[in-house]
Amino acid sequence: MNVLVVGGAGYIGSHCVRQLAAAGHRPVVLDNLVYGHRAAVAPAVPFYESDLGDEAAVRRVLTKEQIGLVMHFAAYCYVGESVTDPLKYYLNNVSATLHLLKAMLAVDVKQFVFSSSCATYGVPDRLPMTEDLPQAPINPYGQTKLDVENVLKALARAHGLSFAAFRYFNAAGASEDSLIGEDHHPETHLIPLAIDAALGRRPPLQLFGTDYPTPDGTCLRDYVHVDDLSRAHIAVFDRLAKPGTKLFYNLGTGRPSSNREVIRAVEKLSGKTVPLVEAPRRAGDPPALYADSSLAKRELGWQPKFADIESTVATAWKWHSTHPKGYDDRKG
Ligand code: UDP
Repeated sequence: MNVLVVGGAGYIGSHCVRQLAAAGHRPVVLDNLVYGHRAAVAPAVPFYESDLGDEAAVRRVLTKEQIGLVMHFAAYCYVGESVTDPLKYYLNNVSATLHLLKAMLAVDVKQFVFSSSCATYGVPDRLPMTEDLPQAPINPYGQTKLDVENVLKALARAHGLSFAAFRYFNAAGASEDSLIGEDHHPETHLIPLAIDAALGRRPPLQLFGTDYPTPDGTCLRDYVHVDDLSRAHIAVFDRLAKPGTKLFYNLGTGRPSSNREVIRAVEKLSGKTVPLVEAPRRAGDPPALYADSSLAKRELGWQPKFADIESTVATAWKWHSTHPKGYDDRKG
Protein backbone atom coordinates (compact mmCIF):
# COMPACT_ATOMS: atom_id res chain seq x y z
CA MET A 1 0.00 0.00 0.00
CA ASN A 2 1.23 3.52 -0.86
CA VAL A 3 0.52 5.52 2.29
CA LEU A 4 0.74 9.29 2.65
CA VAL A 5 1.88 10.13 6.18
CA VAL A 6 0.92 13.71 6.90
CA GLY A 7 3.10 14.91 9.76
CA GLY A 8 5.50 12.06 9.07
CA ALA A 9 8.46 14.06 10.41
CA GLY A 10 6.85 14.46 13.82
CA TYR A 11 7.18 12.28 16.89
CA ILE A 12 4.50 9.65 16.30
CA GLY A 13 4.39 10.05 12.50
CA SER A 14 8.11 9.33 12.08
CA HIS A 15 7.82 6.12 14.09
CA CYS A 16 4.86 5.09 11.97
CA VAL A 17 6.82 5.72 8.77
CA ARG A 18 9.47 3.26 9.88
CA GLN A 19 6.89 0.69 10.96
CA LEU A 20 5.12 1.01 7.60
CA ALA A 21 8.34 0.34 5.73
CA ALA A 22 9.14 -2.59 8.02
CA ALA A 23 5.71 -4.06 7.28
CA GLY A 24 6.35 -3.89 3.52
CA HIS A 25 4.30 -0.76 2.74
CA ARG A 26 5.53 2.32 0.91
CA PRO A 27 5.34 5.45 3.07
CA VAL A 28 5.43 8.93 1.54
CA VAL A 29 5.80 11.90 3.90
CA LEU A 30 4.19 15.33 3.75
CA ASP A 31 5.29 17.69 6.51
CA ASN A 32 5.77 21.45 6.73
CA LEU A 33 8.64 21.01 9.21
CA VAL A 34 7.21 23.61 11.60
CA TYR A 35 7.49 21.10 14.45
CA GLY A 36 8.77 18.07 12.54
CA HIS A 37 12.40 17.11 11.93
CA ARG A 38 13.75 16.29 8.48
CA ALA A 39 16.29 13.97 10.11
CA ALA A 40 13.49 11.86 11.60
CA VAL A 41 12.70 10.51 8.13
CA ALA A 42 15.14 8.30 6.23
CA PRO A 43 16.48 9.90 3.02
CA ALA A 44 15.04 7.04 0.93
CA VAL A 45 11.44 7.93 1.88
CA PRO A 46 9.78 10.37 -0.58
CA PHE A 47 9.42 13.67 1.29
CA TYR A 48 7.26 16.68 0.43
CA GLU A 49 7.74 19.85 2.47
CA SER A 50 4.26 21.29 2.30
CA ASP A 51 1.30 22.41 4.40
CA LEU A 52 -1.53 19.95 4.83
CA GLY A 53 -3.96 22.78 4.11
CA ASP A 54 -2.48 23.38 0.64
CA GLU A 55 -5.10 21.48 -1.35
CA ALA A 56 -3.38 21.76 -4.73
CA ALA A 57 -0.07 20.50 -3.33
CA VAL A 58 -1.76 17.62 -1.51
CA ARG A 59 -3.72 16.63 -4.62
CA ARG A 60 -0.51 16.56 -6.67
CA VAL A 61 1.23 14.30 -4.16
CA LEU A 62 -1.76 11.96 -3.85
CA THR A 63 -1.92 11.53 -7.61
CA LYS A 64 1.80 11.38 -8.34
CA GLU A 65 2.50 8.84 -5.61
CA GLN A 66 -0.67 6.80 -6.28
CA ILE A 67 -1.67 7.00 -2.64
CA GLY A 68 -4.28 4.53 -1.38
CA LEU A 69 -4.55 5.68 2.25
CA VAL A 70 -3.72 8.82 4.23
CA MET A 71 -2.58 8.90 7.85
CA HIS A 72 -2.82 12.25 9.58
CA PHE A 73 -0.52 13.07 12.49
CA ALA A 74 0.02 16.78 11.82
CA ALA A 75 -1.64 18.44 14.77
CA TYR A 76 -0.63 20.96 17.40
CA CYS A 77 -0.74 19.17 20.72
CA TYR A 78 -0.04 21.52 23.62
CA VAL A 79 -3.14 21.52 25.79
CA GLY A 80 -2.14 24.69 27.67
CA GLU A 81 -1.42 26.60 24.47
CA SER A 82 -4.77 25.52 23.06
CA VAL A 83 -6.42 27.31 25.97
CA THR A 84 -4.47 30.54 25.48
CA ASP A 85 -4.41 30.49 21.66
CA PRO A 86 -7.46 28.49 20.55
CA LEU A 87 -7.50 29.94 17.03
CA LYS A 88 -4.10 28.44 16.31
CA TYR A 89 -5.56 25.04 17.22
CA TYR A 90 -8.81 25.37 15.29
CA LEU A 91 -6.98 26.71 12.23
CA ASN A 92 -4.47 23.89 12.08
CA ASN A 93 -6.16 20.92 13.70
CA VAL A 94 -9.60 21.51 12.20
CA SER A 95 -9.47 23.95 9.29
CA ALA A 96 -6.30 22.62 7.63
CA THR A 97 -7.56 19.07 8.16
CA LEU A 98 -10.75 19.96 6.26
CA HIS A 99 -8.62 21.06 3.31
CA LEU A 100 -6.65 17.83 3.48
CA LEU A 101 -9.88 15.84 3.41
CA LYS A 102 -11.23 17.95 0.54
CA ALA A 103 -8.08 17.28 -1.47
CA MET A 104 -8.42 13.55 -0.80
CA LEU A 105 -12.04 13.39 -1.90
CA ALA A 106 -11.23 15.43 -5.04
CA VAL A 107 -8.90 12.69 -6.26
CA ASP A 108 -10.95 9.83 -4.84
CA VAL A 109 -8.63 8.74 -2.02
CA LYS A 110 -11.08 7.48 0.59
CA GLN A 111 -9.16 5.68 3.31
CA PHE A 112 -8.03 7.71 6.30
CA VAL A 113 -6.38 7.03 9.64
CA PHE A 114 -6.70 9.85 12.14
CA SER A 115 -4.73 10.59 15.33
CA SER A 116 -7.40 11.39 17.85
CA SER A 117 -6.94 11.58 21.58
CA CYS A 118 -8.23 10.51 24.96
CA ALA A 119 -8.55 14.28 25.50
CA THR A 120 -11.87 14.00 23.60
CA TYR A 121 -13.39 12.38 26.72
CA GLY A 122 -12.57 15.19 29.14
CA VAL A 123 -12.85 13.96 32.73
CA PRO A 124 -14.09 10.37 32.45
CA ASP A 125 -16.85 9.16 34.73
CA ARG A 126 -15.57 5.59 34.49
CA LEU A 127 -12.16 3.85 34.49
CA PRO A 128 -10.61 2.17 32.60
CA MET A 129 -11.92 4.11 29.63
CA THR A 130 -13.87 2.42 26.86
CA GLU A 131 -14.83 3.97 23.53
CA ASP A 132 -18.48 4.40 24.48
CA LEU A 133 -17.81 6.95 27.25
CA PRO A 134 -19.37 10.37 26.65
CA GLN A 135 -17.00 12.71 24.84
CA ALA A 136 -16.86 16.07 26.61
CA PRO A 137 -13.45 17.71 26.09
CA ILE A 138 -12.31 20.21 28.70
CA ASN A 139 -9.89 22.14 26.48
CA PRO A 140 -9.75 23.37 22.86
CA TYR A 141 -7.13 20.75 21.92
CA GLY A 142 -9.50 17.88 22.79
CA GLN A 143 -12.38 19.73 21.15
CA THR A 144 -10.47 20.05 17.83
CA LYS A 145 -9.90 16.30 17.83
CA LEU A 146 -13.56 15.64 18.52
CA ASP A 147 -14.60 18.12 15.84
CA VAL A 148 -12.57 16.21 13.25
CA GLU A 149 -14.05 12.89 14.41
CA ASN A 150 -17.51 14.37 13.75
CA VAL A 151 -16.52 15.64 10.33
CA LEU A 152 -15.20 12.19 9.46
CA LYS A 153 -18.53 10.59 10.39
CA ALA A 154 -20.35 13.01 8.08
CA LEU A 155 -17.91 12.30 5.23
CA ALA A 156 -18.33 8.57 5.71
CA ARG A 157 -22.07 8.95 5.30
CA ALA A 158 -21.97 11.47 2.46
CA HIS A 159 -19.00 10.24 0.43
CA GLY A 160 -18.15 6.73 1.57
CA LEU A 161 -14.93 7.79 3.32
CA SER A 162 -13.58 4.90 5.42
CA PHE A 163 -11.70 5.92 8.52
CA ALA A 164 -10.22 4.82 11.80
CA ALA A 165 -9.82 7.35 14.61
CA PHE A 166 -7.29 6.22 17.21
CA ARG A 167 -7.72 7.86 20.58
CA TYR A 168 -4.21 7.83 21.99
CA PHE A 169 -3.41 7.88 25.65
CA ASN A 170 0.10 9.17 26.52
CA ALA A 171 2.47 8.46 23.65
CA ALA A 172 5.93 7.73 25.01
CA GLY A 173 9.27 6.06 24.29
CA ALA A 174 11.55 5.98 21.26
CA SER A 175 12.57 3.51 18.57
CA GLU A 176 14.42 0.51 19.99
CA ASP A 177 17.52 1.26 17.93
CA SER A 178 17.50 4.87 19.22
CA LEU A 179 17.62 6.29 15.70
CA ILE A 180 14.51 8.37 16.25
CA GLY A 181 12.73 9.65 19.33
CA GLU A 182 10.90 12.52 20.97
CA ASP A 183 12.13 16.07 20.31
CA HIS A 184 9.52 18.68 21.11
CA HIS A 185 10.25 22.35 21.44
CA PRO A 186 9.14 23.42 23.92
CA GLU A 187 9.05 20.12 25.78
CA THR A 188 6.18 19.80 28.24
CA HIS A 189 5.90 16.04 28.76
CA LEU A 190 6.74 14.28 31.97
CA ILE A 191 9.11 11.54 30.76
CA PRO A 192 11.53 13.67 28.69
CA LEU A 193 11.51 16.40 31.35
CA ALA A 194 12.25 13.90 34.14
CA ILE A 195 15.11 12.39 32.10
CA ASP A 196 16.61 15.80 31.36
CA ALA A 197 16.31 16.79 35.01
CA ALA A 198 18.12 13.58 36.02
CA LEU A 199 20.87 14.43 33.54
CA GLY A 200 21.17 17.96 34.92
CA ARG A 201 20.19 19.45 31.58
CA ARG A 202 17.21 21.25 33.02
CA PRO A 203 16.16 22.72 36.34
CA PRO A 204 14.48 20.35 38.80
CA LEU A 205 11.26 18.78 37.56
CA GLN A 206 8.10 20.45 38.78
CA LEU A 207 5.73 17.77 40.01
CA PHE A 208 2.30 19.19 39.31
CA GLY A 209 -0.12 18.24 42.07
CA THR A 210 0.42 15.85 44.98
CA ASP A 211 -3.08 16.02 46.41
CA TYR A 212 -5.06 14.14 43.77
CA PRO A 213 -7.47 11.40 44.90
CA THR A 214 -5.06 8.69 43.71
CA PRO A 215 -2.96 6.16 45.68
CA ASP A 216 0.13 8.38 45.94
CA GLY A 217 -1.57 11.74 45.36
CA THR A 218 -0.16 12.26 41.85
CA CYS A 219 -1.97 11.89 38.52
CA LEU A 220 -2.37 8.51 36.86
CA ARG A 221 -1.68 8.23 33.13
CA ASP A 222 -1.39 5.41 30.60
CA TYR A 223 1.94 5.57 28.73
CA VAL A 224 1.79 3.71 25.44
CA HIS A 225 4.90 3.18 23.33
CA VAL A 226 5.00 5.03 19.97
CA ASP A 227 5.93 1.87 18.11
CA ASP A 228 2.90 0.12 19.59
CA LEU A 229 0.70 3.02 18.51
CA SER A 230 2.19 2.78 15.02
CA ARG A 231 1.49 -0.94 14.76
CA ALA A 232 -2.22 -0.36 15.42
CA HIS A 233 -2.35 2.06 12.48
CA ILE A 234 -1.12 -0.65 10.17
CA ALA A 235 -3.22 -3.44 11.67
CA VAL A 236 -6.39 -1.52 10.77
CA PHE A 237 -5.77 -1.42 7.00
CA ASP A 238 -7.80 -4.53 6.16
CA ARG A 239 -10.84 -3.12 7.92
CA LEU A 240 -10.89 0.06 5.84
CA ALA A 241 -11.53 -1.63 2.49
CA LYS A 242 -15.31 -1.35 2.78
CA PRO A 243 -16.55 2.18 1.85
CA GLY A 244 -18.13 4.17 4.66
CA THR A 245 -16.45 2.24 7.50
CA LYS A 246 -16.21 4.18 10.77
CA LEU A 247 -13.85 2.90 13.47
CA PHE A 248 -12.85 4.29 16.86
CA TYR A 249 -10.24 2.71 19.13
CA ASN A 250 -8.65 3.65 22.42
CA LEU A 251 -4.94 2.91 22.40
CA GLY A 252 -3.28 2.47 25.77
CA THR A 253 -1.66 -0.29 27.78
CA GLY A 254 -4.48 -0.33 30.32
CA ARG A 255 -1.91 0.03 33.10
CA PRO A 256 -1.97 3.33 34.95
CA SER A 257 1.31 4.83 36.17
CA SER A 258 1.41 7.65 38.66
CA ASN A 259 3.74 10.58 38.09
CA ARG A 260 5.82 9.39 41.02
CA GLU A 261 6.05 5.90 39.51
CA VAL A 262 7.28 7.40 36.24
CA ILE A 263 9.92 9.37 38.12
CA ARG A 264 10.99 6.20 39.97
CA ALA A 265 11.28 4.34 36.65
CA VAL A 266 13.54 7.11 35.31
CA GLU A 267 15.67 6.95 38.47
CA LYS A 268 15.98 3.17 38.31
CA LEU A 269 16.96 3.09 34.63
CA SER A 270 19.34 6.03 34.81
CA GLY A 271 20.85 5.25 38.20
CA LYS A 272 20.41 8.96 38.93
CA THR A 273 18.11 11.00 41.14
CA VAL A 274 15.44 13.14 39.49
CA PRO A 275 15.64 16.48 41.30
CA LEU A 276 12.11 17.74 41.78
CA VAL A 277 9.99 20.38 43.40
CA GLU A 278 6.40 19.80 44.36
CA ALA A 279 4.23 22.32 42.55
CA PRO A 280 0.50 23.13 42.44
CA ARG A 281 -1.79 21.19 40.11
CA ARG A 282 -1.56 22.09 36.42
CA ALA A 283 -4.85 23.48 35.12
CA GLY A 284 -6.87 21.06 33.04
CA ASP A 285 -5.23 17.83 34.29
CA PRO A 286 -7.80 15.10 35.09
CA PRO A 287 -6.66 12.94 38.06
CA ALA A 288 -6.66 9.65 36.15
CA LEU A 289 -6.79 8.58 32.51
CA TYR A 290 -6.19 5.01 31.44
CA ALA A 291 -7.52 2.93 28.63
CA ASP A 292 -9.54 -0.16 28.16
CA SER A 293 -8.12 -1.18 24.77
CA SER A 294 -9.93 -4.49 24.54
CA LEU A 295 -11.74 -3.40 21.37
CA ALA A 296 -8.43 -2.86 19.54
CA LYS A 297 -7.20 -6.17 20.91
CA ARG A 298 -10.30 -8.01 19.79
CA GLU A 299 -10.77 -6.43 16.37
CA LEU A 300 -7.19 -5.65 15.32
CA GLY A 301 -5.29 -8.30 17.25
CA TRP A 302 -3.37 -5.36 18.74
CA GLN A 303 -1.29 -6.12 21.80
CA PRO A 304 1.18 -3.58 23.17
CA LYS A 305 4.68 -5.04 23.11
CA PHE A 306 5.80 -2.51 25.73
CA ALA A 307 3.35 -3.39 28.47
CA ASP A 308 5.00 -1.81 31.51
CA ILE A 309 6.30 1.66 32.20
CA GLU A 310 9.92 0.59 32.66
CA SER A 311 10.26 -0.96 29.21
CA THR A 312 8.87 2.21 27.61
CA VAL A 313 10.96 4.57 29.74
CA ALA A 314 14.05 2.47 28.91
CA THR A 315 13.74 3.35 25.21
CA ALA A 316 13.15 7.02 26.05
CA TRP A 317 16.16 7.04 28.36
CA LYS A 318 18.38 5.54 25.65
CA TRP A 319 17.27 8.12 23.05
CA HIS A 320 17.51 11.18 25.30
CA SER A 321 20.79 10.20 26.92
CA THR A 322 22.43 9.65 23.52
CA HIS A 323 20.83 12.70 21.83
CA PRO A 324 21.44 15.61 24.20
CA LYS A 325 20.07 18.08 21.64
CA GLY A 326 17.48 15.81 20.05
CA TYR A 327 17.89 16.07 16.28
CA ASP A 328 20.06 19.16 16.81
CA ASP A 329 18.29 21.06 14.02
CA ARG A 330 16.78 23.92 15.96
CA LYS A 331 16.48 27.07 13.93
CA GLY A 332 17.48 30.36 15.55
N1 UDP B 1 3.71 16.63 34.70
C1 UDP B 1 4.44 17.11 35.79
N2 UDP B 1 5.52 17.93 35.53
C2 UDP B 1 5.86 18.29 34.25
C3 UDP B 1 5.12 17.78 33.17
C4 UDP B 1 4.05 16.95 33.44
O1 UDP B 1 4.14 16.81 36.94
O2 UDP B 1 6.83 19.05 34.11
C5 UDP B 1 2.55 15.77 34.96
C6 UDP B 1 1.24 16.34 34.42
O3 UDP B 1 0.69 17.26 35.33
C7 UDP B 1 0.42 15.06 34.27
C8 UDP B 1 1.47 14.01 33.87
O4 UDP B 1 2.73 14.55 34.29
O5 UDP B 1 -0.15 14.69 35.50
C9 UDP B 1 1.53 13.74 32.37
O6 UDP B 1 1.66 14.98 31.71
P1 UDP B 1 2.17 15.09 30.23
O7 UDP B 1 2.29 16.56 29.92
O8 UDP B 1 3.39 14.27 30.03
O9 UDP B 1 1.02 14.43 29.35
P2 UDP B 1 -0.55 14.73 29.30
O10 UDP B 1 -1.19 13.74 30.23
O11 UDP B 1 -0.77 16.16 29.69
O12 UDP B 1 -0.91 14.46 27.88
